[in-house]
Amino acid sequence: MKSMQELVRPNILALEPYSSARNEYSGHVAKVFLDANENPYNKPFNRYPDPLQTELKSKLAKIKQVPAECIFLGNGSDEAIDLVYRVFCRPGIDNVVAIDPTYGMYKTCADINDVAYRPVSLDEQFRLKADQLLQACDDHTKVIWICTPNNPSGNNMDHDEVCKILTAFEGIVVIDEAYSDFSTAPTFRSCLADYPNMIVLNTMSKAWGCAAIRLGMAFAAPAIIDLFNKVKYPYNVNLLTQEHALEALDEKIEVEKWVNILLQERSRMIRAFLELPICKQVYPTDANFFLARMTDAQAIYDYLVNKGIIVRNRSRVHLCQNCLRVTIGTRTENNELLAALRQY
Ligand SMILES: *Cc1c(COP(=O)(O)O)cnc(C)c1O
Repeated sequence: MKSMQELVRPNILALEPYSSARNEYSGHVAKVFLDANENPYNKPFNRYPDPLQTELKSKLAKIKQVPAECIFLGNGSDEAIDLVYRVFCRPGIDNVVAIDPTYGMYKTCADINDVAYRPVSLDEQFRLKADQLLQACDDHTKVIWICTPNNPSGNNMDHDEVCKILTAFEGIVVIDEAYSDFSTAPTFRSCLADYPNMIVLNTMSKAWGCAAIRLGMAFAAPAIIDLFNKVKYPYNVNLLTQEHALEALDEKIEVEKWVNILLQERSRMIRAFLELPICKQVYPTDANFFLARMTDAQAIYDYLVNKGIIVRNRSRVHLCQNCLRVTIGTRTENNELLAALRQY
């Protein structure tokens, strides 16, 4: 791995972070807060929230089996994705490499930050070849983006190929595990200590059923987490989100129940799709959705929209010609989709 001096943007290395009122007195017991120009009335919403979400991180540390100092929390994983660019990539100079197809936000954030984005095609089965990603890198490649299980294909990337990239690449490797709760594959966050250049992303938006509260996580070595904390907005995770997340994290058993039901429904839906004359192929999936190749994805998509049923049309995405991406819903919702498709 290259040194942090080589990897981090010089202005970020030199940055004197904004010092918020709630940071400056730390180490003392405080009872009268006249420091932040807040209104003393309207508790508890009158006070700024904990900028480093200490209580939430200590709970997450236990659940995710990652030390609290290796956790960053953001306004969705999307905040962490954007921070990767803002911390490591010099606009107009550096580039990133990513598997293709994958989650669209990696490219959107690259474009916003004026960082060149180099997509590297997966094979027809959506499998990753480490050597091809490594070959696409040059001296200015700061980051490699990997998503496993991948979106929109749904499949896990081969563990050994990902390890090969983690070992061979000198820069930062981001592994987005937004859907890992639906998979039995070992998570990369469990080998954080082995890879100082790895950032693993998790989210409350999928298996945890909390997309509305906007809470994403990044797990990485403390040196990287410290940089994220330096660059983020001071109060990036609001009080309502922190409080709701603390409650939601007590429902681990419930989440496991949801995951089991969704996986059963997924098998049922895939079997039913394979019997539809308009479905040509369903790709293997390790997530709460599947990618199906149809006879005419655009026409079927339009037909479903007319019936008030929305799936994701991925036909214009690389390697996804005529493909729809279908999220697993409740049994009733899934049956509505099947009934509509059987009448097509
Ligand atoms: C849905 C999804 C996320 C979640 O993003 P949030 O901002 O946390 O809601 C992250 N990565 C991938 C690949 C996704 O599909």
